Amino acid sequence: MATTHHTKMLIIGSGPAGYSAAIYAARAMLEPIVVQGLQPGGQLTITTDVENYPGYREVVQGPWLMEEMKAQAEHVGTRMMYDIITSVDLDNGSPFRAIGDSGDEYIADTIVIATGAQAKWLGVPGEQELGGKGVSACATCDGFFYRGKKVAVIGGGNTAVEEALYLTNHSDDVTLIHRRDELRAEKILQDRLFKSPKISTLWNKTVERFEAGENGALSHLVLTDTQTGETSTLEVDGAFVAIGHAPATELFKGKLAMDESGYLDVEPGTPKTAIPGVFAAGDVTDHVYRQAVTAAGMGCMAALDGERFLANLDIDQDGHAEAAE
Ligand code: FAD
Ligand code: NAP
Repeated sequence: MATTHHTKMLIIGSGPAGYSAAIYAARAMLEPIVVQGLQPGGQLTITTDVENYPGYREVVQGPWLMEEMKAQAEHVGTRMMYDIITSVDLDNGSPFRAIGDSGDEYIADTIVIATGAQAKWLGVPGEQELGGKGVSACATCDGFFYRGKKVAVIGGGNTAVEEALYLTNHSDDVTLIHRRDELRAEKILQDRLFKSPKISTLWNKTVERFEAGENGALSHLVLTDTQTGETSTLEVDGAFVAIGHAPATELFKGKLAMDESGYLDVEPGTPKTAIPGVFAAGDVTDHVYRQAVTAAGMGCMAALDGERFLANLDIDQDGHAEAAE
């Protein structure tokens, strides 16, 4: 039976931004509810090694780190809901109303939007049809299936390079395909990539289509050279698309301002949207840094600003607290 939940702070999303907001909100006695969405723990649950989140001198595993954040948020009093928000009503100001896929209703004095980002696809023939039959967007999830086989990674950012490096645990024949002749990935990752004898690179190539063999699974990629226009084929058993992410903001179209890529607009240097009491934190609003630690920091800021909103206080540019109008 559908239930109505009341909370001082509804947090939509359970990545580093959502859990960090929850930790601060719970410790401020706001009795927050986190609605976890389709991917409890967020993007870090689909990676392995995390070596840049502060506090751990040794490499930690992404899923473990997110379990710890969740446990910490619960320990201080957060309620976790296995639900997906399907609509929000922000029109009449606080309290706001949101509806979950479960049919449950959430009435919230403040909302923190921490819905993050999702993998982008190339949108070329064969990509979706061969999903699960050779085409994937997650090497850590599916790399195991290509043990001893030939694989390719498409993209030139940190994700693509990490995916290629990770795949060398399973395959001795990994090809990184990039549309330019220069990677966007951090230098340290590039160094590791170029040092690996198991990885080769194909520069200035785009994937025109993914094609299946007689068994119905991926057999090769058709590539186009961006300089000469020539086409070629690359035989592979698995192809991993790693070309970035799109913010999960469909829910907020027409309700909150966003940029042309869909990232939510906030007042610069703050998590405040144009609607008082509605905050945005993490990858859903940040197209520049997109890191776990920055998302966590923004989650903290959103919870603190939510607390101030509820206390009817506002913080001016110089950091002085004033009674809000
Ligand atoms: P996300 O982690 O994207 O979480 C979004 C959450 O929102 C999810 O829980 C989802 O279920 C939920 N959600 C979405 N829509 C709804 C809805 N309608 N209702 C309810 N919930 C919803 N960063 C690092 O700092 N170090 C790394 O080593 C690193 N490695 C990475 C490896 C990979 C493969 C990838 C893809 C990213 C990596 N990043 C890394 C980036 C990092 O994961 C992100 O910056 C970070 O997870 C963003 O956190 P977030 O909380 O904003 O959103
Ligand atoms: P990204 O940095 O946006 O890189 C996307 C890559 O895909 C770019 O090289 C881009 O090419 C290419 N690309 C985009 N669209 C394409 C298309 N249609 N066809 C072919 N190639 C295309 O995305 P990301 O690598 O997923 O990283 C996202 C964020 O997460 C970044 O901020 C990153 O730093 C972070 N992250 C961090 C770590 C870490 O710290 N260890 C690990 C993973 C991710 P161009 O270069 O030509 O634009």
